[in-house]
Amino acid sequence: MKAVQLVQIGAPLADAEVPLPEIGPSEVLVQVAACGICHSDAHYRAGISTIDPLPVTLGHEVAGRVETVGDVDHVSPGDRVYLHYLVHCGCCDFCLRGNEQFCAKGQMIGKHRDGGYAQFIKVPGRNVFVLPDEIPFEHGAIMMCSSATALHALNKARVHRGDSVAIFGFGGLGFSALQLSKAFGCEEVFVVDINPAKLASITTLGGVAIDATAGDPVDQIREATGGKGVDISLELVGSAVTMGQALRCLGVLGRAAIVGLTAESLSILPYTELINKEAEVIGVSDHLAAELPLLMELARSGKLRFPPGTLRLVDLDAAQINAALDEVAKSTDQIRTVIVPKT
Ligand SMILES: [Zn+2]
Ligand SMILES: [Zn+2]
Repeated sequence: MKAVQLVQIGAPLADAEVPLPEIGPSEVLVQVAACGICHSDAHYRAGISTIDPLPVTLGHEVAGRVETVGDVDHVSPGDRVYLHYLVHCGCCDFCLRGNEQFCAKGQMIGKHRDGGYAQFIKVPGRNVFVLPDEIPFEHGAIMMCSSATALHALNKARVHRGDSVAIFGFGGLGFSALQLSKAFGCEEVFVVDINPAKLASITTLGGVAIDATAGDPVDQIREATGGKGVDISLELVGSAVTMGQALRCLGVLGRAAIVGLTAESLSILPYTELINKEAEVIGVSDHLAAELPLLMELARSGKLRFPPGTLRLVDLDAAQINAALDEVAKSTDQIRTVIVPKT
């Protein structure tokens, strides 16, 4: 079968002809119908995030059709499916408690094992979920990473109907986080960014755009909330500056969910920023298989949408994928690229 692989760090991905994966008893072979091209994939190619062993087929945002199954009975050949990207053991302490992102044997598809930049992929049966008919494969695929993590962040922040929310950064995560906040009954959702095109689309999706170039976003959010601050903030940028802002814009009993990655240290004033309002700072790592069905239901019911013009399709072709990876690092729009292999 055809696959597009990372063969050498720092070099373009290469077209490859590889054997069709052979499935074991607990596994499922899926014909890839759509695979999202993610910012992380550009990091793997550039060597910014570690990846081994090589060569590896990238792609962790996958939807497709079941081709064959082992001893698995919840899906059958022909079913439309989406794939949870974290392959986990299912029986360690973390897996048993439903926190499989901490499984010591955990492997991410498209990073530690072959992913979806291919005609077929094999995964354990427990990573395979039925994709509702109303959801196109492309949407199912791109929800497997940023949308799922946005949902996990809101869950970790213990979102409640009526909470006010401040979202820092309007990339792929923020795009979903805004819509999911609205779906959970949060009427007042502030979204902080600096890009004029993004600020305009925040308003279109029902958020309150906060332009960080027009003054301290914390002051702007406090003013807009009558001085109270927000119940929940989500930091999706990965900078100590926005993390500090996400903390300082909280009201009494506020929860700041920190998702963005940075090696910078964050300083906190314990009395005014935490103790005196019983605020919480919560780390967010990845997402859980158990969260995916709700995500799909929100998409099926139209609460999480990817409007026309937000997806660009490419073929399973190294040249097209490398060009998309070149673009993804410098992208300032909401357009996601999805590989749709020609059958
Ligand atoms: Zn991703
Ligand atoms: Zn485990």
